[in-house]
Amino acid sequence: MFVLEDLYQILGVARDASQAEIKRAYRQLARQYHPDANHGSGEAEEKFKKINAAYSVLSDPEKRARYDQFGSADGADPFGGGGFTGDFGDIFGDLFAQVFGGGMGRRQADPNAPRRGGDLEMALSVSLLEAANGVTRTLEVPRWEACEGCGGTGAKPGTSSETCSVCGGRGQVEQVQRTLFGQFVSVTVCPECQGRGKIVREKCSDCGGRGQVRRKHKLEVKVPAGVERGTRLRITGAGEAGVNGGPQGDLYLLIDVKPDKAFERDGADLHTRLLLTYPQAVLGAEVEVSTLIDGVEKIGVPAGTSHGQVLKVRGKGMPRLRGPRGRGDLYVHVFIDIPSRLTDRQKELITELAGEMKTPVGSGEPGFFEKFKKLFE
Ligand SMILES: [Zn+2]
Ligand SMILES: [Zn+2]
Repeated sequence: MFVLEDLYQILGVARDASQAEIKRAYRQLARQYHPDANHGSGEAEEKFKKINAAYSVLSDPEKRARYDQFGSADGADPFGGGGFTGDFGDIFGDLFAQVFGGGMGRRQADPNAPRRGGDLEMALSVSLLEAANGVTRTLEVPRWEACEGCGGTGAKPGTSSETCSVCGGRGQVEQVQRTLFGQFVSVTVCPECQGRGKIVREKCSDCGGRGQVRRKHKLEVKVPAGVERGTRLRITGAGEAGVNGGPQGDLYLLIDVKPDKAFERDGADLHTRLLLTYPQAVLGAEVEVSTLIDGVEKIGVPAGTSHGQVLKVRGKGMPRLRGPRGRGDLYVHVFIDIPSRLTDRQKELITELAGEMKTPVGSGEPGFFEKFKKLFE
């Protein structure tokens, strides 16, 4: 099984989001992760499928209500009997099979065979600086764990579960149907035991007969340096508990890197702005530039640097998570700072400069812009 919040997290909306908000979030994400827009990236395609699956449930008020109820913290199981490991019926079975690559929704041939626990997915948001340096986070992951009171059997300590008499422990029943076209045998989940093959007469009071309890699992995770928005980290064995002695599922962390005010990221490269005064741009200067990881760096601005020019600072970008080791570059975009207020002396000097450059300035002589405006009067 997976974390309750997941369908909402997949669309990045709150649990009480309106239908309009859900639709808007869906449209934006679907555009972003559409396979055509991602050059056949497998990760994007997977995400795209999830987005669609999440939307198909959350956009339908009835399905959404059922989804909300199904994971409710009080442990009530609307699908009957409290067997969370069994079939959830068509709605969830199909959805989970589609979204999570099978396993959950499929019927089990032998309900007593060991089964691997479900995978979980959680979103984890980090700052750009944390993404650059790597960060350790403590998470609380709500998940199903084997009940200690009954050892996972669901039966009250001292009692044991019985083999289901309806299905003989197979968890399935066969029904023969005769039609015009012949005889069909359909196999369905045993209604008596909900596919578990066992009946618990006296339920364990700790878990109400489920054999599992929902707990918040505290977990320390190391987010490696260089993660990007959309990076999926797998933490082996941190998912749901297995059934009948099966292995634990895995936990997937879907990383979101929050936007930064000063730096924009392009893969392993970073982009930032640098404000220069007019004299610095004209005459050149040594100036200080803030880098994300390495503090302030001194860089040389060559004489005659113009507005919009880009200076490259090698190796001061983001660390690479994959591919060649090392770091990307920092690109510094030059902006010329035009002061709106000048001292008298500054005004005098600049007017003198304008005279030297034979360029008309000031309110007395109409400048280019005034002439330009007159054309439209
Ligand atoms: Zn128990
Ligand atoms: Zn049965």
